[in-house]
Amino acid sequence: MYHRIGRPNPKSLFRGHYVAPKQFENHLKALALLHFEVVSLSEALNESSSKRRVVITFDDGYRNLVENAFPPLIERGYPATVFLVANQIGGYNAWDADNGDVTEPLLNLEDIRLAKSRGIDFGSHTLNHVDLSAVSKDEAQREIYESRELLEQKLGQAPRFFCYPYGRQASETRQMVREAGYELACSTRKGTLQDDAFALKRINVRRDSTLPLFVLKLYRGLIYDR
Ligand SMILES: [Zn+2]
Repeated sequence: MYHRIGRPNPKSLFRGHYVAPKQFENHLKALALLHFEVVSLSEALNESSSKRRVVITFDDGYRNLVENAFPPLIERGYPATVFLVANQIGGYNAWDADNGDVTEPLLNLEDIRLAKSRGIDFGSHTLNHVDLSAVSKDEAQREIYESRELLEQKLGQAPRFFCYPYGRQASETRQMVREAGYELACSTRKGTLQDDAFALKRINVRRDSTLPLFVLKLYRGLIYDR
């Protein structure tokens, strides 16, 4: 799980969310060297494999991905899934900015269409990046269903995957996501062993995830889950 790929804005409240472009490239190189197969979420979902596999995801859809993440991924033929805040396509991280964070531009429709044509997949991260555990049932339903409809309208294809903002969800929320037609959903729970397709665990990759730590995170996940 990545967020922003770029140099941190010194005023950001989430400086840990920025992974330097060089660091990101090093992560990709390490995956290849360690013989991890990078697969898409749908491959991970549908095909079993004896190989060590990873899925790369990005939350929020920051525009710095266009310059810093998509080119090295596309060059290696690595798939990835970006979770978009549907009402903020071409907008900014309003949900963070409202809490005092710096504003960062988000992917616009042209960026998304171009990346999609090159193997990057897009899922829903709600309409407005709300904490689904803190809003009414009706509002949660609207965020889950309408983001799907809006992305379908804009991209010509309904998103297959969902990601909970802040990782927050309850069994009721997971049920709603399933009923809306999504095939799986990512949480922010740590780990690699996947027991619930609607609360998938991930490994958080951050600014301080230097190469040794990145490798440790990959293997530690495997060990802790045993
Ligand atoms: Zn998010």
